[in-house]
Amino acid sequence: MTATIENLSATEIEYTSAAPATAGVQAPCDPAVSTRCLVKRYRDGTEANRGIDLDVRRGEVVAILGPNGAGKTTFLRQLTTELKPTSGSISVFGVDAIAEPDRARRLMGITPQEAGVFETLTVQEHFELFARLKRLSKREAREGAREVIAELGLSNEIHKRVGALSGGQRRRILIGLALLGRPPLLILDEPTTGLDPSSRCAVWGVIRRAVADGATVILSTHYLEEAERLSDRIGVIKSGSLIALGTLEELLERVNRSYRLSYRDPFDPAGDLRVRHYSSFAQAQQHIARELLTEYSIARATLQDVYFALTGEPFDQDETEVSEVTR
Ligand code: ADP
Repeated sequence: MTATIENLSATEIEYTSAAPATAGVQAPCDPAVSTRCLVKRYRDGTEANRGIDLDVRRGEVVAILGPNGAGKTTFLRQLTTELKPTSGSISVFGVDAIAEPDRARRLMGITPQEAGVFETLTVQEHFELFARLKRLSKREAREGAREVIAELGLSNEIHKRVGALSGGQRRRILIGLALLGRPPLLILDEPTTGLDPSSRCAVWGVIRRAVADGATVILSTHYLEEAERLSDRIGVIKSGSLIALGTLEELLERVNRSYRLSYRDPFDPAGDLRVRHYSSFAQAQQHIARELLTEYSIARATLQDVYFALTGEPFDQDETEVSEVTR
């Protein structure tokens, strides 16, 4: 059966049912999104979010990082109004998203972590259908669809059935659907998980263009590189709490890890690469001189270092982290 607006069920269209957005948007000095004391306790008692306060400025990209099960998806699903918070508040461009979820949702483009596509539709039909669901006119739907398809690098696939596309191409379609109608807020749950490098770059390009056009973006990711490249600020959620939020520089300062020294222990040359962190270059050099190191490198610390300091979870499996941070 070919999917049409009439025979789609409410749940099938739920995740993209945002309409062109704007009514009721308040003064530009207000944050785009603001949460206060956001708590989500599931029925089985799991407290997945434990009082999250977050302000996201207009036009900003905020990436949310955290270990598996930390509460990132729960947080984003409350922002998109898919889940009702146990307590706390959410404001989206001044709209109370708990009291007026439909109104808030009209301001968002959403890409959930998992969502189906209509396999029998061609790429163009898929986009036009969802553009119409967002109440764009036929002409706007056609033009909007072409524009987003080109941005996503899917122009060669425009007449292919969605069922015949690769996993990465389908994921790109889901990102594209969130962009239709140019909503002022994009909420993207792991937008590039499972994508090959070229698809990932295409998605980054699309997100950057949306931001250049004024969109605000909140995304979760498992890729530190994605967070570093795309976001203005990075938030880290651990065990349901937002334990850090800031630019990379601010986070590095906070954990006193500006420089990373990687070295081999001269008394264990076949052993693992070791890592220490210092708040200054000179301190790293002192360690090299003191320990008579011959095989080493000093680099500016990265988000990987911050992430380890904050969560206790390493990203690089080849290195043995020395627990002490030398200041
Ligand atoms: P993340 O996105 O960071 O991996 P989630 O928000 O998916 O984390 O999950 C946070 C916690 O809430 C986990 O302990 C998870 O098992 C639990 N959880 C998620 N969804 C449900 C649910 N529907 N019912 C009960 N517990 C849930």
